[in-house]
Amino acid sequence: MEEKERLEKMTEPLVKWYKDNKRMLPWREGKNPYHIWISEIMLQQTRIEAVKVYYERFMKEIPNIQTLASIEEEKLLKLWEGLGYYSRAKNLKKAAIKIYEEHDGQIPKIYEQLIELPGIGEYTAGAIASIAFNQKVSAVDGNVLRVISRIVGSKKDILLPETKKEVSRALQEIIPEEAGDFNEGLMELGERICIPNGEPLCERCPIRKWCVAFEKGLTNEIPVRVKKTKRTKEKRQVFVLEYQNKIAIRKRGEKGLLAGMYEFPNVLEKNNTKLEQILENWNLKIEQIEEIGQAKHIFSHIEWEMTGWKINVKEKNEEFIWVEKKEIFEKYAIPEAFRYYKNRMR
Ligand code: SF4
Repeated sequence: MEEKERLEKMTEPLVKWYKDNKRMLPWREGKNPYHIWISEIMLQQTRIEAVKVYYERFMKEIPNIQTLASIEEEKLLKLWEGLGYYSRAKNLKKAAIKIYEEHDGQIPKIYEQLIELPGIGEYTAGAIASIAFNQKVSAVDGNVLRVISRIVGSKKDILLPETKKEVSRALQEIIPEEAGDFNEGLMELGERICIPNGEPLCERCPIRKWCVAFEKGLTNEIPVRVKKTKRTKEKRQVFVLEYQNKIAIRKRGEKGLLAGMYEFPNVLEKNNTKLEQILENWNLKIEQIEEIGQAKHIFSHIEWEMTGWKINVKEKNEEFIWVEKKEIFEKYAIPEAFRYYKNRMR
């Protein structure tokens, strides 16, 4: 059977399966484009079950585009805390402002206009256009790439942009009238049946009749993922500095990793640099010092191996912002990378 024929034949049973089995999720009620947009950006960070909590909290504080366009950045980042990739939250606000300025406050229905908005890439534009407005456009994420590669028996590397383009083109040719349900069906199948880790649940799959990987026993070999990037390791010293119940934080620069975020002061570890020297450079003197353990955080290209120090200092300096402990939890968004040290303060 030709690839196109396989894909065409599976559309109807897939849409039917999705309608019969879809989970009731808060953002699926009413097909509101704002709800779909926010949930799709959050779903790029973590799994559905985890997103629910963040989503409810976000919607309570920022229920519409107008509020999003005018919200204070600090508040927005605080709501995003725990999801990581804070640039995505910042882009939400930028996009909301653009929607106000250029589209009369209405999220555009057309893929080509959606993709012009900050933070909206091919996948998100396709998801919003198809799910909220039922436009016949594909939306290819990791789940969809895995499912389609298995159905057509493709051993192409799904991490390559060309593979994504090919899958997107192939789906574009066969996408049915119920485009939103079809795209969501593929994603849901990938989440629940054609799962990423471990054996897919082929015996429960509504489209196994058309699946090459199932037919030929290739589910362990497909999808193919060739990882190339090697992460750089950085050793960092992290400081929880305390002066009279106040803790030192600082704001990172506006560019690069964790841009504009608040953090505990930290330095790249260099040979022979003594702690006293680091503190002296910050005009601080040690009163009491305690090692508070090691932690690791993995970013896409860098891995931080951190050693933490809790230090009571004799005076505070001008360089840092000295805040109440509870403000670390309630006011400032401290990136996940520092979670271990933040939790040591409870
Ligand atoms: S039959 Fe199995 S491998 Fe094929 S799409 Fe269904 S779950 Fe995935």
